[in-house]
Amino acid sequence: MLPCEVLDILRRLNESGFAAYAVGGCVRDQLLGRTPEDWDLTTSARPEQVMELFAPHCIPTGLQHGTVTVRRNHRSFEVTTFRTDGAYSDHRHPDGVRFSDRLEEDLKRRDFTIGAMAIDVGGRIVDLFGGQEDLKNGVIRCVGEADRRFDEDALRIMRALRFASVLGFTIAPDTAEAIRREREKLRCIAVERICVEMTKLLCGKDVARVLLEFPEVIGVFLPEMLPAVGFDQRNQHHCYDVWEHTARAVEAVPAEPVLRWTMLFHDLGKPHCFTVDGNGVGHFYGHGKISRTLALESMSRLKFDNDSRDRIGLLVDWHDRVIPCTRKGLRRTLNKLGSDGVAQLIAVKRADNLAQAPAYRERQRELDRAEEIIAELLSEDACFSLKQLAVNGRDMMDLGLSGPAIGQMLQRLLDQVLEEKLPNDRETLLEWAEEQND
Ligand code: ATP
Ligand code: MG
Repeated sequence: MLPCEVLDILRRLNESGFAAYAVGGCVRDQLLGRTPEDWDLTTSARPEQVMELFAPHCIPTGLQHGTVTVRRNHRSFEVTTFRTDGAYSDHRHPDGVRFSDRLEEDLKRRDFTIGAMAIDVGGRIVDLFGGQEDLKNGVIRCVGEADRRFDEDALRIMRALRFASVLGFTIAPDTAEAIRREREKLRCIAVERICVEMTKLLCGKDVARVLLEFPEVIGVFLPEMLPAVGFDQRNQHHCYDVWEHTARAVEAVPAEPVLRWTMLFHDLGKPHCFTVDGNGVGHFYGHGKISRTLALESMSRLKFDNDSRDRIGLLVDWHDRVIPCTRKGLRRTLNKLGSDGVAQLIAVKRADNLAQAPAYRERQRELDRAEEIIAELLSEDACFSLKQLAVNGRDMMDLGLSGPAIGQMLQRLLDQVLEEKLPNDRETLLEWAEEQND
């Protein structure tokens, strides 16, 4: 059940008189039949003893926390001494740790029952808090008293939601209530850490359910979305309120971070531009732009990198624009967004539509058609950008142009090609440019 490197390390520790186990996430993943990404080991040996036993194939990764990285077969294994955590005055980090001789103490400090199990060299599982039962029933439950555990380290709130989404588990009622009560303590957590968990949560298979169940938690670090909760759209295209539509749209898009964040943000602007016409029908004219502004503000606060921020802002802005289902129109769109951007935009539009009322799903056919045309354009290597144009600035200079006239002429040539009035053919383009120049 355990990889041979892990067995090796455990045996070596046991032979020297120390208790040793694989522990935490790897045990959970193994029991779920998933391949663990990494194996964490825990032992009664003190860090210096671990260093001595495995020298020179080890690195003192975090001695003050008891962690030594042991290298085996070009793989790394973290071996951490049994420990208990001291008080948590900042709602994130223990003020200090104390090493222990008892596995039980080490398991007790872990956040959820399904990640608080250990397994020994013989494959025997140590499960003191009903982790196997919770795994079987698909339940996330705190080890010990939930309010205290979230108060100690508020990041656990996001970890609980993340596991629920990724594993498709439910959160035990007392754990869920504690999450709601303790949610404000998320403000003590670095936004970067929150975002790492949120991205995993968004990319999970059960993201819609988790978003719908805990909007007030998401609202702590993303207050821009709170007005969406329960916001009635009063429009036949929509059978859900803005938040439920958002949650369903997130789940409907492929599980890539940029796409999932885009769907989370795409309708943030709706409550801010809602109008009702004479027939009592709701409209959200211009909401793409407002959503983009709100999304950009949130992403700056959440310290997104610039590339993701720009791309997500662009997709949010464009999500509600009509993309024409013609070769010319799609060449124009390719020109503006690039081929990757257009592919993402179509995925966004698909997801948006899939989260609308079922009667309006015929929009999917239009998107199929747009995809076909784009595939056709790409396969014939169609020109949609200046750098693909068969002539360049040098050619324009040879025609006697200089300064800004060069760029202007190239742009006019590109326009002709995008409009399919001229083929992207060097001779033809030079001829046309010369004529214009006369
Ligand atoms: P994954 O590796 O899939 O992100 P994981 O549960 O393995 O999930 P790690 O960060 O690898 O998470 O941590 C390994 C183990 O350490 C966890 O299974 C858990 O037992 C414990 N742990 C991690 N973070 C915390 C925390 N914030 N509070 C309490 N225990 C934690
Ligand atoms: Mg892990």
